[in-house]
Amino acid sequence: MTTEIPALPRPKLGEPYLLTPGPLTTSIETKEAMLRDWGSWDGDFRAMTAEMRSGLVELLGDGKEAYDCVPMQGSGTFAVEAMLASFAPKDKKTLILSNGAYGKRAVETMKYLGRPVAVLDKGDYLPPRGDEVARLLAEDPEISHVVVVHCETSSGILNPVEEISDAAAAAGRTLLIDSMSAFGAVPLEPARLRFDAMVSSANKCIEGVPGFGFILAKKSALEAAKGNSHSLSLDVHAQWSHMEKTGQWRFTPPTHVVAAFLEALRAHKAEGGVTGRGARYADNRDVMVAGMRELGFETLLDAQWLSPIIVTFFCPADPAFCFSRFYDLMKARGFILYPGKLTVVESFRVGCIGQMDEYVMREVVAAARDVLAEMGVESAAPPAEALIERARLAA
Ligand SMILES: *Cc1c(COP(=O)(O)O)cnc(C)c1O
Repeated sequence: MTTEIPALPRPKLGEPYLLTPGPLTTSIETKEAMLRDWGSWDGDFRAMTAEMRSGLVELLGDGKEAYDCVPMQGSGTFAVEAMLASFAPKDKKTLILSNGAYGKRAVETMKYLGRPVAVLDKGDYLPPRGDEVARLLAEDPEISHVVVVHCETSSGILNPVEEISDAAAAAGRTLLIDSMSAFGAVPLEPARLRFDAMVSSANKCIEGVPGFGFILAKKSALEAAKGNSHSLSLDVHAQWSHMEKTGQWRFTPPTHVVAAFLEALRAHKAEGGVTGRGARYADNRDVMVAGMRELGFETLLDAQWLSPIIVTFFCPADPAFCFSRFYDLMKARGFILYPGKLTVVESFRVGCIGQMDEYVMREVVAAARDVLAEMGVESAAPPAEALIERARLAA
């Protein structure tokens, strides 16, 4: 155990920890970076935008030279919509690999855009595999693009993006990745994965505050995206070419959010970049999952699929357990949990990302133990249906 690592500072404002996949708990320095105003046109802010864009490209690691960064105002969904509208073709099909809420949202977005889709729907949490994607691509020459969600935050599964990338590349198709909740903590290196564009946002693994998303795309794909978007404000090519020319965002930028994000990027680098950040989150997950299992809780997913981002647990079968009461009592102890999204059995989620370390995670487990006792829950074991459901994953 890495007990020599000093504990992270505690929230100074006394607010609860957000065990959620963003907005999440940010550092006091990140919050303090927002305590002044910047003119959007001014050289100081233009320099901040340039520093942020190059800092994000840097995180791609080997092979980054071919890519550029285009920030986009709004929450992550705005950036996903911007990416799909700018890169998914109007006359060819885009295959969407769906295994949760964010895959479904990508399908819905394409319907709004009126663009042709093919969907591989794996339900709530089964991973799309490389061989099935290869088969679908071989069967349908109309498919030119593939969309995959890196970490499907609704279950917490870390999808096998390398397999998918290999299958798409072998079939000569183009890959687009929603890496919203994984980028910055899970490697996404162009030297190992072939993709034209990926998208993430300020308030996930970089630990900024909400207000914009960003697209990292091949410069050649950005050039080719001219005129493809249906939308003025979400046009990635237009935002990119304007930024290249003027150093400015096209419309009012979230200046304070960018300032906070730059501070968060500095802290990310100081922690050891993607490797360091990913290691802390993995420790958070390991300590928290081991502790929760000791209490009798079971995870939805096998170890092989558990992301270091967020973990889904089944609600206990014990009739004394009630999630809303569990939530309130955990909140009273300083921890905000996240409700589950499974359709078959009741569940809840615990996020591992944000300014938290393994010491905090031990406190989360201790709080859960106290709360179960206060509720009179004798066993945190899930109902039998939950385990039957889970066995489908292993099959
Ligand atoms: C957070 C997230 C999004 C974007 O959600 P917003 O609520 O619009 O910020 C998209 N995809 C995934 C996988 C996410 O985790």
